[in-house]
Amino acid sequence: MRIPPLTRRSFLRLSTASILLAGCTAAASTAPAVRIKGASAAVDVLVIGAGMAGLAAARDLVAGGKSVRILEARDSVGGRIRTHRSWGKPIELGAQWIETATGNPLVALAKSAGVTTAADPENGTERYIDTQTPEQLSGTAVDNLYTQADAIIASALDTAGGADKSLRAAINAVPAYKRLTTAQKRRIESMLAQLIDDDDAVEAELLSLNNYDEGIDAYRGGNLFVNNGYVGIPQFLAKTLTIEYNINVTRIATDSTGVTVTAGTKTWRAGAVVVTVPLGILKANRITFSPALPAAYTNAIKQLAMGVLNKCVLRYDTAFWGTATDTFTIAGSDPHEFYQFIPLNKPVGIPALVAFNAGSRARALETKSDAQLQAQMAALVNKAFGVTKTPSAIIATRWGLDPHSLGAYSYIPVGGSIQARRTLGTPVNARLVFAGEAYTERDASTVHGAYNSGKAAAKALLR
Ligand SMILES: Cc1cc2nc3c(=O)[nH]c(=O)nc-3n(C[C@H](O)[C@H](O)[C@H](O)COP(=O)(O)OP(=O)(O)OC[C@H]3O[C@@H](n4cnc5c(N)ncnc54)[C@H](O)[C@@H]3O)c2cc1C
Repeated sequence: MRIPPLTRRSFLRLSTASILLAGCTAAASTAPAVRIKGASAAVDVLVIGAGMAGLAAARDLVAGGKSVRILEARDSVGGRIRTHRSWGKPIELGAQWIETATGNPLVALAKSAGVTTAADPENGTERYIDTQTPEQLSGTAVDNLYTQADAIIASALDTAGGADKSLRAAINAVPAYKRLTTAQKRRIESMLAQLIDDDDAVEAELLSLNNYDEGIDAYRGGNLFVNNGYVGIPQFLAKTLTIEYNINVTRIATDSTGVTVTAGTKTWRAGAVVVTVPLGILKANRITFSPALPAAYTNAIKQLAMGVLNKCVLRYDTAFWGTATDTFTIAGSDPHEFYQFIPLNKPVGIPALVAFNAGSRARALETKSDAQLQAQMAALVNKAFGVTKTPSAIIATRWGLDPHSLGAYSYIPVGGSIQARRTLGTPVNARLVFAGEAYTERDASTVHGAYNSGKAAAKALLR
């Protein structure tokens, strides 16, 4: 999930918007032109991966007159957009929001695809429940906590620019944070979990201070909560495309006449290839490149990192939490664990609660069984609401262990650089281009960032 609508963290980013957008334009215009050769090739372009980046690239290449084949490791399209439907109502395992909707091309795509949205619960009423004190806050008390947390992040960011360090180190040094009592810090940490861990799929301890605000939102406005199946968008994009499923590509070799792509004992030949596999796959060297990628690209892969964001969804017989509150912050013994709960009864029409874990907490929890996760989350819910309810089912995602993703989305770690995203988004040569959420400086980590990156890759190849 990508939280903060403009009412929360995004205001911190607005001041640098114009500079960064100007930087994006410059990077795009300096990308080398690519000419597709390879008359003997089976297709003009092979696209590896049928997520938003791959589908967007393939669509534009086909529209540009190229023959295109997509090779996808899973048995379906969408990648990190995945909708679970066996509960009768759609439960999103990956992306849920269309972020910054004003000007976002996903809004029109959703309309064409018949994908609907509900009011964003994060813009609704929020209640903070501290299970330890125990105490409940709502209304202006919660708003004040966000304002305080935002101000602390802003002060930390003001110290950026020297030798890189973690965002956490900078936060810990902010006088207003240092002055907080242990009890006050605990509350602020719940908010930091929502503003930082959730947005970056990692805790502040690992995030680069100097790069934290890089990669500004390309669009404006609030977020939209998809409520009838996000996968409808990639399915719509895929309609007229040629896709081979269950093809786990392991080798990409370029030569003077084209590209050979290998998966197991099968090979495909093309004039060029667009590689949209997640950063986690490249970092784990699951694909061998021949010749090896230039040092600038291998260094760029090292300078980025893959975060983990997981959801646990508990289904109950009734929505005993009611309809008055749209999101709950529930602080247990660790305010960074199971920090936010979104009821699905209002936006989706099912008595279920989604809770989030990010970063090291997500990685630790995803090694537990469903039964263990259900017991842990249900105990927290019971304590928070003062009830003894037993959920009827659980869905728990494990994006860090997903073999075709190895993480949820990318972030820039301490010592990393936004330049790494720029490098990876620039064609390697006339035959090899990367596209995807990690390989763009503009709205990295999002669905629309991936979509726009795929379009940019197609444009580079068609140029
Ligand atoms: C839990 C979670 C919540 C999120 N919430 C939001 C949100 O609310 N809003 C938002 O905008 N973004 C959100 N995101 C991020 C968003 O989902 C991604 O940024 C975006 O979908 C990535 O698209 P992509 O095309 O770059 O990669 P992917 O969707 O991962 O597509 C890459 C494809 O490559 C395939 N592949 C991998 N390896 C191989 C191989 N070797 N051979 C062949 N194919 C291969 C994969 O199976 C996959 O289908 C969320 C992500 C997660 C995980």
